[in-house]
Amino acid sequence: MIPLKSENDLKMLKRSGSILASVMRKLEDAILPGMTTADIDRISEELILKEKALPAFKDYHGFPCSACISVNEEVVHGIPGAKVISEGDIVSIDLGVNFQGYFSDMAVTLPVGKTDPEKLRLIRITRESLDLGISYARSGNYLTDISHNIQRFAEKEGFSVVRQFVGHGIGKALHEEPEVPNFGSAGLGPLLKSGMVLAIEPMINAGSWECRVQQNGWTAVTRDGLPSAHFEHTVAVTENGPLILTSI
Ligand code: MG
Repeated sequence: MIPLKSENDLKMLKRSGSILASVMRKLEDAILPGMTTADIDRISEELILKEKALPAFKDYHGFPCSACISVNEEVVHGIPGAKVISEGDIVSIDLGVNFQGYFSDMAVTLPVGKTDPEKLRLIRITRESLDLGISYARSGNYLTDISHNIQRFAEKEGFSVVRQFVGHGIGKALHEEPEVPNFGSAGLGPLLKSGMVLAIEPMINAGSWECRVQQNGWTAVTRDGLPSAHFEHTVAVTENGPLILTSI
């Protein structure tokens, strides 16, 4: 059952999403070579708490931190710690916010300092694949119209789409129905309706799509060790088309 949100729900989700987007903007400015991923996590938690919201990932199924921070070949669910960010790294930050029981979810991948052009292209294509996916989040489209177009676009650029992790519905819980894959045929799955809210989150690999999860039980890395990028927005399907809730 995919929950449909009321006008009031959407208003609250927009507040949650704009808190998250402003935290993310501040983090983008804060990241410097020499910082640890734990530093970034601490800053993100402080920024979220300052907005009188809660970090939605903390303790979620036992996740120990506020942010998932995945560097270079790490795909998603990187656990912040002693790892030092260096010039040339690409750093994916995935954050969730719970504001008065309304959840939003967002991810960006940032280059640190001077970065290899191919890594920058991976970041750009992943961001554009999200933008394209969002453009299909319209009432009357099928759910997998989003999925299919993300895959088509990323593969046309010579990259591959992670299969093991997918987007999701979101609202009064961090993860709701439906799953939102970033691959597959168009024209399948439920018809999209006004009031649905989806976290759309392509994870795109420079090499093969295959991933493995490290021994900590969380951090997913590419099998071939090549870099991966991740962008995510929380998006409402409305009468007037897709509305990005994770924007300032
Ligand atoms: Mg998500």
